[in-house]
Amino acid sequence: MRAAASRRIDREIETVRTMIGMYCAAQHGGAAGLCENCAELAAYAERRVRACRFGADKPTCQRCPVHCFRPESREAIRRVMRYAGPRMAWRHPVMALRHLLVGRREAPTLGKEGAR
Ligand SMILES: [Zn+2]
Repeated sequence: MRAAASRRIDREIETVRTMIGMYCAAQHGGAAGLCENCAELAAYAERRVRACRFGADKPTCQRCPVHCFRPESREAIRRVMRYAGPRMAWRHPVMALRHLLVGRREAPTLGKEGAR
């Protein structure tokens, strides 16, 4: 994998972890770190992102045509995004901006294979 692409994926994972951290601190009082469920969700999300079939061309998950998260984790991450998304802009403006820019990339087209 190209270095730039792998950096992008590292940043995406960092962003997801940051958002889960904000959500957990506010909703679960996990000030000293993630609660068990959120830690598990973060680890799961990282595994999925690293296993992404698009590799170097990975779009942001929001725009991805493949829904690779299991349904309950997808629901959980959606709750996190709904909470942390609007707050990212002022808590972590640089990260939010970067995420927005990456989000503009079009998802590569893909055959009809669906989720794994
Ligand atoms: Zn939590």
